[in-house]
Amino acid sequence: MNLWPDEMWAACLYGPGDLRIERQPTPRIAHDDDVLIRIRACGVCPTDVRSYVRSIKREGQLPQSLIPGHEWVGEVVVAGPAVTEFTVGDRVAVNWRVVCGVCDYCGQGRHNYCLHPRHNRVRGGFCEYGVAPASNVKRIPDGVLFTEAALVEPLACCLNGTRALRIGLGDDVVVVGAGSIGLLHMLLARAQGARVIVSEPLPERRRRAKALGAHAVVGGDGVDPVAAVRELTGGRGADAVIVAVGHPTAIQQGIQMAGPLGRVNVFAGTYPPTEIPLDPNLVHYQNVVITGTHDFVPREFDLALKLIGHGIVRAAPLISHTFPLAETGRAFDTVVERRGLKVVVEI
Ligand SMILES: [Zn+2]
Ligand SMILES: [Zn+2]
Repeated sequence: MNLWPDEMWAACLYGPGDLRIERQPTPRIAHDDDVLIRIRACGVCPTDVRSYVRSIKREGQLPQSLIPGHEWVGEVVVAGPAVTEFTVGDRVAVNWRVVCGVCDYCGQGRHNYCLHPRHNRVRGGFCEYGVAPASNVKRIPDGVLFTEAALVEPLACCLNGTRALRIGLGDDVVVVGAGSIGLLHMLLARAQGARVIVSEPLPERRRRAKALGAHAVVGGDGVDPVAAVRELTGGRGADAVIVAVGHPTAIQQGIQMAGPLGRVNVFAGTYPPTEIPLDPNLVHYQNVVITGTHDFVPREFDLALKLIGHGIVRAAPLISHTFPLAETGRAFDTVVERRGLKVVVEI
């Protein structure tokens, strides 16, 4: 007798703002190294919201491919015959990015540029069951809640971003934008010994950033955040800047906040695509390095689990809302309206 039903509840995206909770076939183990997982939590990512707002109608594809969500965690229900490292009941987090491991970029340790990613091996997580190859399944440390473990994927992305910034002890680091991603960056920069300044227009988010450990916050009505950062850094500007908002003004300000030899990470995608003016002398004379990162590599996923497991990065204070699967639409709307920080659906 199967321990799992033939059908499950799933949140399916049909069009802009049209997210329906409906019955879908429960996924099956298709490869010997697959693990079937009862999903317990799935975080709402800006990427999910983007497809919810603009919505991509993918006609002709399997209904299951319309289930969004890639930040999911749960319990092992069935382990395929070739799986030795997991048994039924194990609490696990799933790395959705299945890479080839052998292409040129994987060989460089840059798996997020893998030339042959296997897109359909791990499907969306706003549903009751998911399947993943065992190599992409990681045990959740004891004491970490499912909702907290759902932040492992975004934290892994932030780890990838922080690597490019070479943050050192005592560096002045600015985080532009204090949503959940900005706050994760703030916690990571703190963990690396930086002095962290958070730039954020919303007073509630500035207050939260301060409460969670920002050394200083700037922004709000009548405040020029670039001038404020200059003042806080003795006129020099920051050693590193993370722009965690996909907005042209924020990116421009972030670049202007960097001091000589400063590193700037354009961490958020900008939609719709846009252009910003850039003074080339900032790059030439000031040696400001402008870089960008997205996604993560397998080691960063493991490291993110470790950081949350040991409380080096505390995920719980970043979770502002949880919703049941039946209210996934409300969870998305909460993110769209910027009413919370991290929003997680509990399943
Ligand atoms: Zn994500
Ligand atoms: Zn590859």
